[in-house]
Parts: sequence; structure tokens; C-alpha cells
Amino acid sequence: MGGGSATFKIFRHDPSAEGEEPRFQEYEVPVRPGLTVLDALFYVQERLDSSLAFRASCRAAACGSCAMHIAGGYGLACQTQVEPLGGGPIVLRPLAHLPIIRDLVVDMGPFWEKYNKIRPFLVPGEPAPEKERTQSPDDRDKLEGLIDCILCGICSSACAVGGTDDAYLGPAALLNADRFVQDTRDGATEERLRIVDGEHGVWRCHTIFSCQEACPKGLDPTGAIMTLRRTIIRHRWKKLVR
Ligand code: SF4
Repeated sequence: MGGGSATFKIFRHDPSAEGEEPRFQEYEVPVRPGLTVLDALFYVQERLDSSLAFRASCRAAACGSCAMHIAGGYGLACQTQVEPLGGGPIVLRPLAHLPIIRDLVVDMGPFWEKYNKIRPFLVPGEPAPEKERTQSPDDRDKLEGLIDCILCGICSSACAVGGTDDAYLGPAALLNADRFVQDTRDGATEERLRIVDGEHGVWRCHTIFSCQEACPKGLDPTGAIMTLRRTIIRHRWKKLVR
């Protein structure tokens, strides 16, 4: 970065255009304090090149839409300031392990398929009470660090195993599986454990911790996977000694 501007080197590709090869394109963007990578992308799209495609929505690190690979690591474009990224060209790439629709926009379909596999909703084990399903403060505390997932997909793209095993459920789906297993109002623990207990489930994790390092919300998918492993073993043991 120099002279009040930054060079962005952005991945460009349109798979629907015949003969078009993936490439990087450079853009010069004026920098001011507080400018985010997402602001810079809008600057490029509105003033330099309206053909650039990227996703964004909330601009408040709550929706996960602008997740991408930024200057060597994963992050949310709306949450990443430009100034601290330094002088070199700031390279932007789409999330990995997902089909590219265009430029920085990926097809999240395979990510949602895996998420849906863990049945990401409460399955009440008991008939509905007259008023509501209550939860004690201690039971609510068990969900801390699990319910804040914004499903941005970063952890699953940062996961090295995801690059070698398309069927691996991945850290986001597994963290959310643990979120429901830990929820005392849920009655589908056995079923969920069956879903995640397999060669493409919790046992496929190599505990590299890339998911934990990359998560923009500071969550710990590796820890959740280890908790699921322990829970599976406890349940197997209980069945043996019954
Ligand atoms: S665990 Fe973190 S990185 Fe993974 S999907 Fe949720 S918020 Fe994104």
C-alpha cells in the first residue's frame, strides 16, 4: 500500500463463458482509515469494473455472505480492514472446496447439503408442555460457543481434510451437530450421533485446528468434534454395560 491506495489482486472466472480461464485482475483502490475489504470491493464494482461478482448482505459480520480468502487467510470482507493488510497486492480468492459460480461467488449447495444432514433443528423428545420448553441457565451455558455460528463456510473451506474427502461432513456441520446434542431440549441425540459417527464424520478430523484458527466468530469446531467423539464413545460404553 502506498500513496493512499492499495492494489487488490482479485480472482476472476466465469465458468459459463466458453474458453475463459481463471485469472487474477488488479485494481487500485483509494484507502482511508476504516476502509474494509468489502468497501473496496464495492468501490471496484461501482467505479472500476461492474462485471466483478461477489456476495454481501449485512455488512456487520452477522450473515457470513462475504466470506472469502483474503491476503493469505480466510475472513469476512466486511470485518477485515484494508490498512493493516500492508503494502503488497491484497489477493482475494473465493472459498475453497466449493464450485465457482463466478469470481468470488461460490455455490454453497454442497455446504448446505452437509449441514442439512445433521438435521439442524430441535427435535423435541417429549410432548409439548402447556406453555413452553424451558431451559435452566446451566443448560443454556452448555450451548455457549456453539450457537453463535453464522454458517459462513470458512471453517469448512479452511479444513485440509475437506480438500481430500468430498463426503466429509466438515467442521461447520459437526459443530452444529454438537450444538443440538448438547441441547437438553433435543430428543434426537442417538440419531444425530449415528449420523456423525462414520468415516466421513467425526473420525475423519485430523485435529489440524485450521477451522478453529480461521473461524471469524472465534468458535472452536475442533473442540466440538472432540466432544462428539467422547459422547459417541460414552454412548457405546453405556450400551455395552447395559
Ligand atoms: S464455525 Fe465459524 S467458520 Fe465455521 S461456519 Fe460457523 S461461524 Fe463460520
